[in-house]
Amino acid sequence: MRLAVIEGRASLLIDGTIVDVERASVGRFSTVVDELYRDWSSFMQWSTDVAAGDRLESELRSAQWGALARAPRQIFAVGLNYVDHAAESGFTVPEHPMVFTKFASSIAGPFEPLKLPSDNVDWEVELVAVVGHGGRNIAETDGLGAIAGFCIGQDYSARDVQMRGVPPQFSLGKSFAGFAPLGPVFVDTATFLQQSDVTLDCWIDDAIVQSASMKDMVFSVPRLVSELSSIVDLLPGDLIFTGTPPGVGFGQQPPRYLRAGEVVRSTISGLGTMSQECVAHRDAS
Ligand code: ZN
Repeated sequence: MRLAVIEGRASLLIDGTIVDVERASVGRFSTVVDELYRDWSSFMQWSTDVAAGDRLESELRSAQWGALARAPRQIFAVGLNYVDHAAESGFTVPEHPMVFTKFASSIAGPFEPLKLPSDNVDWEVELVAVVGHGGRNIAETDGLGAIAGFCIGQDYSARDVQMRGVPPQFSLGKSFAGFAPLGPVFVDTATFLQQSDVTLDCWIDDAIVQSASMKDMVFSVPRLVSELSSIVDLLPGDLIFTGTPPGVGFGQQPPRYLRAGEVVRSTISGLGTMSQECVAHRDAS
């Protein structure tokens, strides 16, 4: 199943067409995408019988695509989850996942411009897992069953804010407006994992800066589910940013950060491509 938010409305993408969820279900399912994750198994079951629509996906403009979540109750983000990214950041791989949060007000659509609040904004392409039924104390072997599906996310980070002080301010440094774009497409877990490999790539303009396989993750998605749910209740619609591969600007010598006019493009196999054009903060209002 492929799901998107088109002009603010939850929509299924079927054979290159768009189907409005609320209209097609005659009001049974909400047009608010977050609500669908809360009734996930019913929604999945209903979606299997839906016919293609009249409107073509290819006719959409980028501004019409919205974020795949607006108000998740919890957002988890994992640091240092690829070996070579830990190394470039000057850390060793931890024994347990290093977890912080991004605040929900940082969520943006997949093609919204990125206002740069400082001269130290960095990129991090990430696979984002969306929690389905969730729960507590989920065994690693059951971990994938708790996940509804996946989309692309960027974990934009203002390194000056993130690294100021001891200990550092991960959550605030990664929560400016627009620092968590999500989309353009959500794919359910079973469909997404039919791929033999999943690759993550990030470009700045025409230069590729990150390229990795999901196989390089230190803590797999089921392991993350198990570790997180051993402490907190994973709630339907929660997001898990699963960490970024090497190639961020902070790891370069000298560090290199985003500038106004640059375009960041992020691709994950099976999930499409998102892009943000960087704009100077003072020009953005
Ligand atoms: Zn990250």
